[in-house]
Amino acid sequence: MIIVMKPKASQQSIHAVTNYIENSGLQVHLSQGEEVTIIGIVGDKTRISTENLIIFKDVDRIVPVTESYKLSNRKFHPDATVVKVGNTTIGPGNLTIMAGPCAVETKEQLLEIAKAVKASGATILRGGAYKPRTSPYSFQGLEEEGLRYMQEAKAQTGLSTICEVVSLEAIEAAVKYVDMIQIGARNMQNFILLKEAGQSGLPVLLKRGLCATIDEWLNAAEYIIAEGNPNVVLCERGIRTFETATRNTLDLSAVPVLRNKTHLPVIVDPSHSTGSYKYVAPMAKAAVACDADGLMIEVHNNPACALSDGPQSLTFEKFEKLTAELRPFCGLLGRNF
Ligand code: PEP
Ligand code: MN
Repeated sequence: MIIVMKPKASQQSIHAVTNYIENSGLQVHLSQGEEVTIIGIVGDKTRISTENLIIFKDVDRIVPVTESYKLSNRKFHPDATVVKVGNTTIGPGNLTIMAGPCAVETKEQLLEIAKAVKASGATILRGGAYKPRTSPYSFQGLEEEGLRYMQEAKAQTGLSTICEVVSLEAIEAAVKYVDMIQIGARNMQNFILLKEAGQSGLPVLLKRGLCATIDEWLNAAEYIIAEGNPNVVLCERGIRTFETATRNTLDLSAVPVLRNKTHLPVIVDPSHSTGSYKYVAPMAKAAVACDADGLMIEVHNNPACALSDGPQSLTFEKFEKLTAELRPFCGLLGRNF
């Protein structure tokens, strides 16, 4: 349930409403915009006579909210959230590109890729140090050593950095070295990990689970925000369907649907969703066209020798061509890139 106050409602009127709610044993989520203040009620609504609230001075209307996620809900928080990651931001006005290898393999490989993606316009370097692989016999990542290389790449290029975490130990290590942590598709409903990510103090990129509905995804975001960390970015990375021509099916309609449902920034990963370098550029352009706030793209210095996800990795040349082609799209949409 949310209480929409009249434009320019006085602080006194707002306090009268919030006191009433809090004195009834419920919590208040306050969103004070330039014109309008919105008061969200979180908790057991049977403790309060919500119809009485319309009598309070400066209350405009009362809107019931049926979704279980509140903190990530746009109804509670109409202004779009901007998430700061190191020295870059994700949110309205920008197209933020995260690029880099699927896995950090060696220091030299990472530095070479970091320099190349920066030259083509990426502002965040991605690189997996803990790899949740389908097979236990596949390369599992360099772990903390990989994080140290990420830190070195940041020092040399000025790029902000993101790395996936798969455990509490990985979070504890990541906070020492990178600017943003990623919860991967396979862990989207690992609720313990979500809570730990919420307590990490770092912004979190939350990828959509392989079979997750949008509401399940937003509830997962809620777990992180409920721990006091509002800096969550959602990443559509394709879902499992009956189609086998691509690795997953990229659900681009998730972008406008999420815009409607949440204030959190939304980015798209055309690499893991398609599974083939051939489809990355068209789907990246489609993601920008439907107003995504950013992209996550796998780029490798030598895809044929990559230790993971070579078939979907772009070469430096292909990545440079793509970013050059994206610039006019961004201009049309009024997004800085
Ligand atoms: C990744 O980004 O490295 C990754 C494993 O992606 P996803 O969780 O989307 O499969
Ligand atoms: Mn990958």
